[in-house]
Amino acid sequence: MKRKYFGTNGIRGIIGELITPGFIIRMGSAIAATMKKGGTVVIGSDARFSSPFIKQAISSSFLASGIELIDVGTVPTPLVQFAVKYLKADIGIMVTASHNPPQFNGIKVIDNDGIEIDITKQKKIEEIYEKEHTSYTSWEENKTLTSINLREEYINQILGLVDVELIKSKKLKAVVDAGNSVGGIITPNLLKKIGIKVFTINGHLDGTFPGRGSEPEPKILIHMSETAKAVQANFAVAHDGDADRAIFGDELGEVYYGDKSIALFEKWILSYQKNKKFVTPISSSRVVEDIAKEIGGEVVWTPVGCIYVSRKMIQESALLGGEENGGLFYTPHIPVRDGAMATALMAEILAKTGKSLSSLIQELPAYYQQKDKIYCPNDQKERIMHHIVENVEKAVETITIDGVKLIYEDGWILIRPSGTEPIFRIFTEALTLEKAIERVNKGKKLVEKALRK
Ligand code: MG
Repeated sequence: MKRKYFGTNGIRGIIGELITPGFIIRMGSAIAATMKKGGTVVIGSDARFSSPFIKQAISSSFLASGIELIDVGTVPTPLVQFAVKYLKADIGIMVTASHNPPQFNGIKVIDNDGIEIDITKQKKIEEIYEKEHTSYTSWEENKTLTSINLREEYINQILGLVDVELIKSKKLKAVVDAGNSVGGIITPNLLKKIGIKVFTINGHLDGTFPGRGSEPEPKILIHMSETAKAVQANFAVAHDGDADRAIFGDELGEVYYGDKSIALFEKWILSYQKNKKFVTPISSSRVVEDIAKEIGGEVVWTPVGCIYVSRKMIQESALLGGEENGGLFYTPHIPVRDGAMATALMAEILAKTGKSLSSLIQELPAYYQQKDKIYCPNDQKERIMHHIVENVEKAVETITIDGVKLIYEDGWILIRPSGTEPIFRIFTEALTLEKAIERVNKGKKLVEKALRK
């Protein structure tokens, strides 16, 4: 279903271009028009310079529409998601552009179950937006705007889900790289409460993200890695701009992609549970399947995007989900990615196993991955996909929930059309680097061949 403004994670754009007060007021009015009169909205924002004006603009739309507004302050996205459920609100609004650079901002719209609204609801809001429909009320129906601080409640819910006494007894040390964003408000405090000695870097809020940018790419987390080594930390964690993701580093200074950490969570959380379903996007490493076999579990694949993972977890009553970008979803808390929850669970795994993070990672199967892209006009994408599925030689399994994934005994190729650019992205995995490169080339050839047909 094509949408004009909502993307994979809410509405995002550049300040002064798409994102202006006028646009936000009109979009806020459209969202308010989908709600019942007298409903409640929880609102929070990240630390970007543009967040206050967006928050004020959208707040005025809700208040003018007879909606009650509760402001939870400058906080991580998952805290707003927690607050929607905790306060039994109808909708949540998080003002953020997550990991995007400082010139971006936007809004995530959260449903009453704490998960971002689905595509049908997004489409409905856009339709109302296009019609410029509003539900403004007379003065007698205007509701109140209140501010509350739910940081303690949020941290307490997370701590209620891990073995606090066990973690305390281990006297761990951790480095938190907050990336100058809202993660610095929560994670260091949370870790201190469970007896962990915390070394925070890039901890002060700054909307320009001067420390290391807002995207926690493992290869740029050099300062975190060096600090972990220098202070002999048991682990290190870095968040993105709205702290829903967590990228981990070990005691030796090695920093890992999410593929490794989510497999670790799958292994050490689900092996103690009866329900061993693990929900993850189709682009995740085969390691999650190997772990599922090892613990007698099951992997449930979804299209790429956190909403798909969250919604699938509810559908399948799954406890755990993960993404290779460092997103971890834990249903006993809320089935959305949450960097602070992931951090508390990592501390618990280290405390329970008594092993170092580097040795736990080494126990996981290792694969080589390759990524590439190839040009393809947008109007050809569907035809190309069909052609590949019809004509490719048989793989052990072919999954087509998002692109084409060809699975072999020792790895896979995923050929996936980009949602925003005229390209196909090709991801591969194999037991050797040579094989992974060979597969990427094979994937590109499949698209080229189909393009010529
Ligand atoms: Mg994020």
